[in-house]
Amino acid sequence: MARLGSWIESRPEGIYVRPADAWIDPSQPKARAWVTHGHADHARGGHKTVLATPETLAIMETRYGPQSGQPVAYDETIRVGEVDVRFVPAGHVLGSAQIVMEYKGERVVVSGDYKRRPDPTCAPFVPVPCDIFITEATFGLPVFRHPDTGSEIDRLLHRLHADPERCVLVGAYALGKAQRIITELRARGHREPIYVHGAIERLNQLYESFGVELGELRPATGATKAEMAGHVVIAPPGALNDRWSRRLPDPVTAMASGWMRIRQRARQCNVELPLIISDHADWDELTATIRELEPTEVWITHGREEALKHWCMTHQIKACELNLVGYEDEDD
Ligand SMILES: [Zn+2]
Ligand SMILES: [Zn+2]
Repeated sequence: MARLGSWIESRPEGIYVRPADAWIDPSQPKARAWVTHGHADHARGGHKTVLATPETLAIMETRYGPQSGQPVAYDETIRVGEVDVRFVPAGHVLGSAQIVMEYKGERVVVSGDYKRRPDPTCAPFVPVPCDIFITEATFGLPVFRHPDTGSEIDRLLHRLHADPERCVLVGAYALGKAQRIITELRARGHREPIYVHGAIERLNQLYESFGVELGELRPATGATKAEMAGHVVIAPPGALNDRWSRRLPDPVTAMASGWMRIRQRARQCNVELPLIISDHADWDELTATIRELEPTEVWITHGREEALKHWCMTHQIKACELNLVGYEDEDD
């Protein structure tokens, strides 16, 4: 074969796998889409056929209605056109997968979004050595080092117990982060009911239907200020500074995101308690993963590509940036 990975093309609307005539996480409706996970910037509606894990398909159905999809279990290999395709856990959110493809003796892994630290709501990342590793780089700068999750959760609980007249309102993305915060709180021994915003309820139910236990949850809508005092309330980030939060008892505003490493960002969103909890790999996880997989080439997508590319080059690994459009940080 002439050039490594010449059968995979980076096009603005996604990664195109020519010998399978398939697209990975395309931003436009396609005849054949392979979807890494359920976040809206990766999983769009309107594809003719979707290949994804059963969890991801269920998330897409919750968001977009019935999908003509084919569920693929982790580690099941299927052949599409001339390509062998396998989905392996990415450790990002429920059902998230890396897509492993083999064609004419070459192996390419598309990471989707991923992280390496433990997450009680999903299967851990499985490293698959490969020729080309296509990685995300949302937090691809050395300044991004996420602290231990347990210590961030302890800060949350400490703040909660310090002032039982108030509540702690945590901004967390509806898919993945919200459920992870709930299970991490449970893992730290927090058994109290947790109040949740209506926009998170359906996904909570979906997680529970796949066996993720969330404990006692109550709708924040309809609860009185007195009932919510001394409790954790979880809402999508957009609700933090909106009218909705006026129903809460003098909330301490928290936000769970990798971006909370940047103080300026926390201040801009009026966040009093920034929690650095991310569903993406931080700098150390990105570089450790590349070291572990030992790819010949690294292709870098959505995020801060430049620093990671430089790191690869100083470690004798060929690297390039892919300019895909439509990836946002819905899910940091
Ligand atoms: Zn994501
Ligand atoms: Zn993403």
